[in-house]
Amino acid sequence: MTTTAVRVEDLKKDYVMGAEVVHAVRGITLEVPAGDYVAIMGPSGSGKSTFLNLLACLDRPSSGRYFLGEDDVARMDDDQLSEIRASRIGMVFQSYNLIQQLTVLENIEVPLMYRGNVKPEERRRCRELAQLVGLGDRLGHRPMQLSGGQQQRVAIARSLANNPYFVLADEATGNLDSATSDEILALFEQLNDTGKTIIMVTHEQDVAEHAKRIVRLRDGMLQSDEQRGSDRRQKQLSGLWAAPAPEGSGVGG
Ligand code: ADP
Ligand code: MG
Repeated sequence: MTTTAVRVEDLKKDYVMGAEVVHAVRGITLEVPAGDYVAIMGPSGSGKSTFLNLLACLDRPSSGRYFLGEDDVARMDDDQLSEIRASRIGMVFQSYNLIQQLTVLENIEVPLMYRGNVKPEERRRCRELAQLVGLGDRLGHRPMQLSGGQQQRVAIARSLANNPYFVLADEATGNLDSATSDEILALFEQLNDTGKTIIMVTHEQDVAEHAKRIVRLRDGMLQSDEQRGSDRRQKQLSGLWAAPAPEGSGVGG
């Protein structure tokens, strides 16, 4: 059975600027199954940031529906939105957004702190996440003592700490050199291979090509939604995507 990580229906966001209304997102309908890896692209001003802020529950749509699991987030009040953001959404930013005074392990634990003290089994899980991103031997380091790529690894581990519905990455490789960027993209692919749902915003085509699916926005609307292979081998076989999926494989549709 395929479960849905995110579903939005006719999502709209208007910004009122005095007498003027900016229609930043003008009716986006999109379903992201659990385990998907989606890149969101589009020219400047096409609504990427606005859409990302809606998905991140940092902002509320003007109209439309937004389901996370069974819950319609579009109908939630500010407190409920903060709660769901803290408890079920993982964010990775271009500038890492780590807390300089905290160690690697403490930074990874940050999403768990809003509920109070971190429990021993949660701390154990955070250590495992540090290991997963290759920083098991850097738990006591502070962000200043790490390279950019290592800091982004901490941020990725942090994004997983609350067992999120999906990880939302905003130009996550934008500050990194190309070799380090490739390492971070390889880590995202590795996480996706273990079933994590990833949605990333990027303006770079070669970054987007690491995703399974590329969604393009234009003027606040969906311009295209392209399915790609999940790995290089499947990419080479991408011509076969037009063929019907084998019975019961669950990859069709
Ligand atoms: P992108 O991230 O793709 O460059 P944005 O989502 O930032 O696009 O912007 C989409 C449109 O909404 C643009 O026309 C932009 O000027 C407008 N916009 C974005 N944020 C605001 C805001 N806070 N107030 C008013 N207009 C905004
Ligand atoms: Mg933007």
